[in-house]
Amino acid sequence: MATTSEPTPEFALAPYKERENDTLSERINEIRGVWGNRLVILGHHYQQDEVIIHSDLRGDSLRLSQLAADSRACRAIVFCGVHFMAETADILANRPDKLAERRGERVSVILPDMAAGCSMADMAQIDQVESAWEELGDWIDTKKLIPVTYINSTAALKAFCGRHQGIVCTSSNAERVLRWAFDQGERVFFFPDQHLGRNTAISMGIDPTQMPVWNPYADEAGGNTPDALRNSRVLLWKGHCSVHQMFTAAHVAQFREKFPDIKILVHPECPREVFEMADVSGSTAKIIDVVRQAPAGTQWAIGTELHLVNRLRQEHPEQEIHFLSPVVCMCATMYRIDLAHLCWSLENLNAATPVGKIEVDPEIATESLVALDRMLALS
Ligand code: SF4
Repeated sequence: MATTSEPTPEFALAPYKERENDTLSERINEIRGVWGNRLVILGHHYQQDEVIIHSDLRGDSLRLSQLAADSRACRAIVFCGVHFMAETADILANRPDKLAERRGERVSVILPDMAAGCSMADMAQIDQVESAWEELGDWIDTKKLIPVTYINSTAALKAFCGRHQGIVCTSSNAERVLRWAFDQGERVFFFPDQHLGRNTAISMGIDPTQMPVWNPYADEAGGNTPDALRNSRVLLWKGHCSVHQMFTAAHVAQFREKFPDIKILVHPECPREVFEMADVSGSTAKIIDVVRQAPAGTQWAIGTELHLVNRLRQEHPEQEIHFLSPVVCMCATMYRIDLAHLCWSLENLNAATPVGKIEVDPEIATESLVALDRMLALS
């Protein structure tokens, strides 16, 4: 369980909500100037433009956390992302060897809006996972079941994986991690994103009939028959990303009909039918690289978060980039972090009354680190 400490803030949020963006940006820059390289502002790729221009580093959650943790000067991280990302940053920046280098001094990790959660991470609550694990013991040998959690999960779930010989994965390394998991045991329990788990396992040649989905709200056996559980290779948790789940096969078909030469590029959090129809799929980093390296004039329909697709369109006017949905698919929780929240959180950090501080419980952090380090050792 992550703990947060919220001292009485010196500054209230409301006045910042009334200020113009220029005024907020000016104050953000002043505070950044005061802190210099002791402060690192991280901006996830899905963040809105007006916020991301203030970030020192832009990227995906693991890369950002690693870069900030490697900074010797950094004493405060402001993570313009969502809750699980700030937890990972806290775990990596305050791991024992980093703390020893700083003679015990912690790096403060701030999430500018504590309501910026991740609906996917919230779909696998630790008490649900623990009950599922116990129930599964009635049908299969859980000593040979390896839990694998996508990095988009709570620290408590990462810690569970650390405790049970399991591991963390990202959308870039999911296949490598699953191969490692199959070297350790007979089958895998994959959390929380069923689509990433299914898309990866099918790409590895695993039969889809051996991937039952565990529904934590079902009355018994996660909604499965005992035979389906005994026959499983990969048990998928019934979770999804509300952003990527919005893309459909009909969207792909519409683009193909209108633009016969179009290339469909999607994130592996998309549902199976969309993933199967795509020309290219991959993590956020891969999506960016593929577009960067494509010849001028390439037509793309991209199935990932809207802010990233819009930014790619601005950065690559030589290519024709479409968003693979007529519906707005953006990460609404990440969008909660606006300039007002960023400025307000920096102001309070500067006044030594930090708000939105994320500090993972030490035991959870230690066990999470075990699962994270198993993954990092594979890179
Ligand atoms: S895009 Fe999806 S997985 Fe990523 S933070 Fe938002 S809800 Fe979570």
